[in-house]
Amino acid sequence: MSIVFIISAPSGSGKSTLTSELLKSVPRLQFSVSYTTRPPRGSEQNGREYHFVSRQQFQDMLAAGEFLEHACVFDDSYYGTARRYLREAEAAGNDLVLDIDVQGASQVKQKLPEAVSIFILPPSRDELEKRLRRRSEGEKQVETADRRRTDEERNSIIQKRLCTAAKEIENYRTYSYILVNDQLEESIDRLKAIVLAERLRRSGNRLSAAEQQVVASAQQCLLPNVRDKVRQILDSFAASIQP
Ligand code: ADP
Ligand code: 5GP
Repeated sequence: MSIVFIISAPSGSGKSTLTSELLKSVPRLQFSVSYTTRPPRGSEQNGREYHFVSRQQFQDMLAAGEFLEHACVFDDSYYGTARRYLREAEAAGNDLVLDIDVQGASQVKQKLPEAVSIFILPPSRDELEKRLRRRSEGEKQVETADRRRTDEERNSIIQKRLCTAAKEIENYRTYSYILVNDQLEESIDRLKAIVLAERLRRSGNRLSAAEQQVVASAQQCLLPNVRDKVRQILDSFAASIQP
């Protein structure tokens, strides 16, 4: 049985960065490339970051029951996980990583209660805004003419993402692990530890000292151990919406 790892985070928290490092360094892990109706950004390529499809194609797949989950994110774009990725991972003996939003995560948790869910948080609202702006600047440099956006459009996308983030982070309690992505290297190690710890837990084997350390590192991301940090992060978001 493949282990399904659900990774959710407010956009800009560093989920793609962490996930890509995880996939590079942990064997037997496969990434589920989602389908989306949003247009490609920056240097994104069809079939690599996403399968970019029209609304009609998305509706046809939905009607044919091809999605394990799907959701409308940021009010205007549809995203979905194709069931075939799970079948392929099972056949290849791999575990599967889903990078999906909180709505999709809740659907998958209902269908696959054994799935392991990980919520990534930015260290504060200010840091999230900085990361969104930095990424947006980076995308501007590599945009081709057909993908060019005005500064006003960029700003509005960032504001929308910050607003959505404030709502999404309220769901942190429903996840198995909470990872605050402050120092990148440390976060990568923690994410790897979570995956390895879950594999060890299911193996039922007696753990070596090194393996026990991996489990202890993963446990740093359990709610009771991050409660104070999370409280500060939630406060930083709440402060920004007060008059
Ligand atoms: P997401 O996939 O969550 O939307 P990205 O992985 O695209 O986010 O990261 C958003 C931006 O933040 C990128 O420019 C990335 O390089 C940067 N970033 C990611 N993690 C960190 C970190 N720990 N410290 C500083 N910058 C980071
Ligand atoms: P972005 O447009 O920034 O790549 O992603 C926006 C949001 O959509 C992120 O929270 C991302 O996790 C989520 N997302 C990406 N693919 C899927 C998917 O297949 N299903 C769901 N429910 N959300 C997804």
